Amino acid sequence: MAGLTRRQLFAALGAGRLLFANSLRQSQVSVVRFDKAGVRQGLVTVDKYVLSDEEWKQRLSPRQFDVTRRAGTESPFTGPYWNNHQHGLYRCVCCSNALFSSDTKFESFTGWPSFWEPVAPENIETADDNSYGVRIEVKCRRCDAHLGHVFDDGPKPTGLRYCMNGTALNFERL
Ligand SMILES: [Zn+2]
Repeated sequence: MAGLTRRQLFAALGAGRLLFANSLRQSQVSVVRFDKAGVRQGLVTVDKYVLSDEEWKQRLSPRQFDVTRRAGTESPFTGPYWNNHQHGLYRCVCCSNALFSSDTKFESFTGWPSFWEPVAPENIETADDNSYGVRIEVKCRRCDAHLGHVFDDGPKPTGLRYCMNGTALNFERL
């Protein structure tokens, strides 16, 4: 501390906090934006959407919080959208990032909304999940919300089945 006055010390600490805040702000991702009409706008670079658990709890229902922030799974046939056949776009319930289109939704008879492809590979993230055997977890690229899992027993053309929790999604009818 030699040579540092109290005031200089506090100034230095303040600068450190500012640096930390800036480094958080620089945590950015590139996702494909879709406008309100569901039209693809192209790749945009946005800040990661980061909130504390307390902030998420204020914004989400307990069920939404459990699924998206605690990797919970809704019981089959109990969540929204598994039986939704309307045309539109499914967005992340946490951050509104566009995730799936009704164009790629199919009847999986599982009780969960299922898609053979996301609207853009950039908008999701996958990770190994070894909690029940080996599965691949699907998350929102912008806010890291847990969405569900992807399996390789889906229909053509991709052969993939994105098995989503409807609770993690928000449907926009188009
Ligand atoms: Zn999100």
